[in-house]
Amino acid sequence: MFIDFTSIHVQAGNGGNGCVSFRREKYVPKGGPDGGDGGNGGDIIIRASHNLHTLQDIIHRKHFRAQRGENGGGKNSHGRNADPVIIDVPCGTIIINEETGKLIGDLTEDGQQVVAAKGGKGGRGNDAFKSPTNRTPRKAEPGQPGETATLSLELKVLADAGLVGFPNAGKSTFLASVSAARPKIADYPFTTLTPNLGIAKLSGYRSFVIADIPGLIEGAHAGKGLGVQFLKHVERTKVLLFMIESGSEDAEKDYASLKKELKMFNPQLMKRPRLVALTKSDLSEKVIRKQKMKDGTPVLVISSVVRKGIDDLLNVIWQMIKE
Ligand code: GDP
Ligand code: MG
Repeated sequence: MFIDFTSIHVQAGNGGNGCVSFRREKYVPKGGPDGGDGGNGGDIIIRASHNLHTLQDIIHRKHFRAQRGENGGGKNSHGRNADPVIIDVPCGTIIINEETGKLIGDLTEDGQQVVAAKGGKGGRGNDAFKSPTNRTPRKAEPGQPGETATLSLELKVLADAGLVGFPNAGKSTFLASVSAARPKIADYPFTTLTPNLGIAKLSGYRSFVIADIPGLIEGAHAGKGLGVQFLKHVERTKVLLFMIESGSEDAEKDYASLKKELKMFNPQLMKRPRLVALTKSDLSEKVIRKQKMKDGTPVLVISSVVRKGIDDLLNVIWQMIKE
């Protein structure tokens, strides 16, 4: 599945207690207070990492707990703060507090992090309470309790495969032919693109999300500005499927200009695994034996209308996504 979900319980560390203590020195009959503060409890931090792609790693671990802060000591020694516990999640993870429904974080960038539960503050030691009127305070604070929360984590992979092609290449037709069901539109933040998302279903309960990204090429040609949201969408796509009409005069040339456009748009996209589908094979007379483009990219021949080569293509895409 492409929407990963899990629920976890987090407990930040309690603060350490403040200390009540008095100086005891030779020849100093009445030493003042010297009780130090307690250390802070450890935070629970959730951090996005681009090395992770699913929530599988934490799905089996339901509880996360940070250490408490060290208690304060005599001679004004402050207790040590406890280290935070860091939970790594994939980029694209949304964190919601289950009890309050509040959005805790929407982590999209590698390294982005949020404090999911704050550690308790350490209590003040009696040294902090001395005053002209009270020189021997016998009072110290206990550490504050750390926050606890039940959080739901949800990962949305927006699209696994993105379709790239000139207008009329057959992208929409392909998407319509392979996606039996439409994804729930409201679930996707990028409303302008939602009509172009579909879920392709394969045998054995396999499925993946395909995005028709017409704006990429057509918009670039028209010199239209592309929104940041759109960019994000494309950047989260794992595999790029270039669609070129099999009846094209020069498929290599079309392919080269598609690649050029894409590169101008975002050079990173060239690192994405890709393959080429030669479309509308039912229309072309010549039998196409091409298996690879000049740059080594695999080629498959399809017809969305007569459903030829479609299953093979979906299986190849599935393999590429999994890798
Ligand atoms: P897009 O602009 O890339 O989305 O292309 P469309 O999917 O809108 O297709 C453009 C035209 O090609 C439409 O008239 C489709 O009916 C036609 N078309 C698309 N795929 C096929 C195919 O496999 N066979 C045939 N014969 N026509 C197709
Ligand atoms: Mg279209």
